[in-house]
Amino acid sequence: MDLVLSRNFHHPKPLNFAEYCKNGGYQSLNSIIGQPREPLLAELKASGLRGCGGGGFPTGVKWGFLAKDASHPVYLVVNLDESEPGSFKDRQVLYRDPHTILEGVIASSYILGADKAFVFIRGEYREGAKGLEKAVQEARAAGLVGENVMGSGWDLDVDVHLSAGRYICGEETALLNALEGYRGNPRSKPPFPIVKGLWGQPTIVNNVESICHIPWIVHKGAEWFKSQGKGDAAGSHIYQVSGPVKKPGFFELPLGTTARELIFEHAGGLLDDRELVGFLPGGASTQFMLPEHLDIPLDWDGPATVGSRLGTGGIIVMDDAICPIDFMINLTEFFARESCGYCTPCRDGLPYVVHVLKKFETGEATSKDLDLLHELCETIYPNTFCALAPGALMPIMTGLKHFKHVFESHIEGQRCTHNHQLTAEAC
Ligand code: NAD
Repeated sequence: MDLVLSRNFHHPKPLNFAEYCKNGGYQSLNSIIGQPREPLLAELKASGLRGCGGGGFPTGVKWGFLAKDASHPVYLVVNLDESEPGSFKDRQVLYRDPHTILEGVIASSYILGADKAFVFIRGEYREGAKGLEKAVQEARAAGLVGENVMGSGWDLDVDVHLSAGRYICGEETALLNALEGYRGNPRSKPPFPIVKGLWGQPTIVNNVESICHIPWIVHKGAEWFKSQGKGDAAGSHIYQVSGPVKKPGFFELPLGTTARELIFEHAGGLLDDRELVGFLPGGASTQFMLPEHLDIPLDWDGPATVGSRLGTGGIIVMDDAICPIDFMINLTEFFARESCGYCTPCRDGLPYVVHVLKKFETGEATSKDLDLLHELCETIYPNTFCALAPGALMPIMTGLKHFKHVFESHIEGQRCTHNHQLTAEAC
């Protein structure tokens, strides 16, 4: 497999414009800018690229929804508001190779016929945003951004925008509200942003990793891209592994790599060779997978076969020193804090879930609390305005199923016997 997203990560500091070009950077634009757009879009559709922010929606299909007579301006919004617990792939590209992002932004904007691109960056990634801003200035000076890009007659403005800092702003419609200067609450869908997005205009929102793949797909071809994945999966993905493993980190690997390879080969196995109890495959808003699921390909379809999903591909590992209930409290506290507060089931329901979970840890829970947890999940899940609370409930709902015995032992023993200090570190 060819490294794409992380190909320049070995350099001690991010490459400047001249160095990036010397390493083959921006060459893809020669086969993109000024070319007819339809064949480029067809190549993207044929590649099988799927949205890398967590949804896995086919990118070519999504871009095909842009009306041919769409009213201008058309906007491209690159989602770099990476805030999912356990996910730290986008920040690597931002901090280590900003020109790779910009090459993707220019190529994507051209194919879409976009007039302006915004890169919406997580508030804490301040230094990374500065690096990208510098890259934009260098590219502008070289005629790759601004008026008449590469003499094509097409103009592109690129704006680097730092989020004020909330998890929900990563949800695409909340992001659009935030970008417009409003409170970052989600909007109802449909209309999808590609029909009515930023300031009511057609807007394509894509995760930064998806955008970085685009120039390579068009330049090297759909067949090459497909050959980079495993099985039916196309392309590479930056997987991340965190929790009690020997070598936590990020790894660009063929999409479709298994959790066994990731946890035991690339991340070096569990600390102190402890026993694996379960893992979340793609950030905190995914379902628990178990040791028996280690050989399922972690692509956009594999985890779904056991009721889970790939999400961001940020694996969070749980070993036998961690109390699954304490683990769930840690995650749910995060989501409860990050609720935008707009709808009651999420705003009031998630703190209540935390309250009930804590009763198991302190030994106050009875079997009625187990029933209550089920009831809370069933009530909250289908009744929220956006996907934040349903995502938050993924580990709880699967935890109630897979770790029922742990809940019961907490009721019977009337306390938690796990080592909490280790839990806090692992989460
Ligand atoms: P989604 O599947 O609802 O949508 C995917 C994309 O396709 C969106 O851009 C949407 O506008 C578009 N789309 C879908 N149907 C469409 C239609 N009929 N017409 C036009 N466009 C259409 O997923 P999502 O809400 O974008 O993302 C959810 C995922 O994000 C979750 O799986 C979660 O794991 C992940 N997530 C990631 C982070 C992070 O930090 N990267 C944070 C939270 C959640």
